[in-house]
Amino acid sequence: MIRYRSTRGARGDASFSEAIVRGLAPDRGLYVPSAWPSLNAVSIPNAPLSAAAAAVLRPFLASDALEPFLEPIVAKAFDFPAPLKSLESRNRLSVLELFHGPTAAFKDFGARFLAACLTRFPERSQRLCILVATSGDTGGAVAAAFHNTPGVDVVVLYPEGRVSPLQEQQLTCWGDNVRAFAVRGSFDDCQRLVKAAFESAEIARHRSLSSANSINLGRLLPQMTYFAAASLSVWRQAGERASFIVPSGNLGHATACIWAKHVGLPIGRIVLAHNANRTFPDFLDSGVWTPSASLTTPASAMDVGDPSNAERLRDLFPNIESLRTALSAASVESEAIAPRIRGDFERYGEVWCPHTAVAAEAYARLSERERAESRWVLVATAHPAKFREIVEPAIGQSVALPDSLAAIMALPSKREQLPADVETLASVLMR
Ligand SMILES: *Cc1c(COP(=O)(O)O)cnc(C)c1O
Repeated sequence: MIRYRSTRGARGDASFSEAIVRGLAPDRGLYVPSAWPSLNAVSIPNAPLSAAAAAVLRPFLASDALEPFLEPIVAKAFDFPAPLKSLESRNRLSVLELFHGPTAAFKDFGARFLAACLTRFPERSQRLCILVATSGDTGGAVAAAFHNTPGVDVVVLYPEGRVSPLQEQQLTCWGDNVRAFAVRGSFDDCQRLVKAAFESAEIARHRSLSSANSINLGRLLPQMTYFAAASLSVWRQAGERASFIVPSGNLGHATACIWAKHVGLPIGRIVLAHNANRTFPDFLDSGVWTPSASLTTPASAMDVGDPSNAERLRDLFPNIESLRTALSAASVESEAIAPRIRGDFERYGEVWCPHTAVAAEAYARLSERERAESRWVLVATAHPAKFREIVEPAIGQSVALPDSLAAIMALPSKREQLPADVETLASVLMR
């Protein structure tokens, strides 16, 4: 049975169920496994994805209250594919498409797994309130995943006027148990409000709050699944390890990839592709952790200046040398994104979202030798249609909306506004 301890280590550990309900450990640290299972990779099926998920996650949920429900949980969460497409046989390059879910970004996997877990709990005495700050994609995935989940309310805060029209529609179209508020302020203001709400004893007396950001273990662990499935598929076809280029912001995705490798999946190199927010690449270079305010870039879902999950990576590799051995990181400036989208559209006929383009650019900047040495997999994190205002001018064509997004765009929406002060948020939460 695996227990989960806080990265800040102070007090008691938690079961998987406790960890996902709490979101954050009581000492404000992040939950990490206190022991690591060793997976027998050859016994894990790479398809269907739900079967891979069950095999990867079972040891992490062993003896937990949710273990008996693992099969129905993964069947519900992993009901859309994550195809691995070959781009160039000569260079042994492929792309892992993680955008075939309801909100067309990889965050659907983690959000839907967490929602499926939280519905399985025996009758709770109090409704759970999931409070999330979003710069766009997280809020949409969480809202879609939790819409009409019994016993759970969702409150999403987003910065007014700073998300794309499509993203705003994905936040405001749900109704019922989901409320989305346009906060008069920046994303940092939204995060500050969420943090203050979690620290308020007053609110805690009235509502049980939880988070669905990637600090929540219930979003992170399921993300190991597609790294497992893709690496096993490469291993079975080619007898080689897959190396991944992972678009990174808050480093949830990167942590899941590292964890998948750590438990024995056939993963080779891991390269984190950051945009101009270079806190983590700078840390790898200098060994000094210097978080900063986030910069706005075309790959907006990765605009994070103080990535939370770095705490989990540093916990696993406390020594900077061992961290440098485990992964490398690149930073791509904003000006390189549109030319990369255009160039790869001409080269491969594929259209990248701006985040995926950051990964493609990081791949192009590897040395010829590095490119030749591994079987590289670019991780495609969102459908390009979500960011059409950037993508369409770059390729000189329109990009069709996938059906799931078209359905969301057709729903009526309800906008609510909120000033950036904690008292108003508290009154909304306690109402
Ligand atoms: C969230 C997100 C990322 C970054 O993932 P992290 O886990 O925060 O590093 C990359 N691309 C897209 C499209 C995202 O929504």
